[in-house]
Amino acid sequence: MKIVLLGPPGAGKGTLATALKESLGLLHISTGDILRVEMKNNTPLGQEAKRYVESGGLVPDELVTRLIKNKLESDPKAKKGFLMDGFPRTLKQAQDLDKILEELKTPVDWTLCLEASMSVVLQRLTGRRVCKNCGALYHIKNMPSQKEGICDKCGGNLYQRTDDNEATITNRMKVYVESTEPIIEYYKSQGKLKILNADQEAQAVKEIALKSLNG
Ligand code: AMP
Repeated sequence: MKIVLLGPPGAGKGTLATALKESLGLLHISTGDILRVEMKNNTPLGQEAKRYVESGGLVPDELVTRLIKNKLESDPKAKKGFLMDGFPRTLKQAQDLDKILEELKTPVDWTLCLEASMSVVLQRLTGRRVCKNCGALYHIKNMPSQKEGICDKCGGNLYQRTDDNEATITNRMKVYVESTEPIIEYYKSQGKLKILNADQEAQAVKEIALKSLNG
């Protein structure tokens, strides 16, 4: 199954993707994660992406679409199915994704759109912590690690993303409304849209997501 996850920053796309990839045996593809690895390794692509990511703006379409195209064409697991998290983020990216998948003869099956209220999103983003080593997600209140600052899965150090501060979050929300929300209509017109209430806790969102995919 090929699934696109839509929704504002902090709606829980990464958390849902992590939960569903195990249940459904799908590859989790996150453009944000790919870009953070490139930035950490200080590659030319990472250097180019850094100023956009740190300001909460969007990395140019051409650059991220190239990353996705490479991933879809080169990773054999992607052919079996994927959960796309953080891509597409513009109408152009959505159209280009359809073209790439058309060439690969594997169209998107469903788009799950996570709807979350502003207060929930803010609380989630400001309390989010990420493992430096394996990328596992935590929250200081909703999903704390057993030992403060240490990843339960691999023992790596947890950190707060530099773009998870209030000023950058405000910009990311604005960018979401202006550039990403129009995609909802795009998938709706294709009859591929499922809307989920993502204000609930992670386990409940996972359950309604599985139900809606099976129903
Ligand atoms: P995320 O981890 O999905 O919240 O993404 C973090 C940041 O990476 C975003 O705020 C953007 O700066 C950049 N980014 C991730 N995915 C995309 C995309 N599809 N298009 C443009 N920029 C992106």
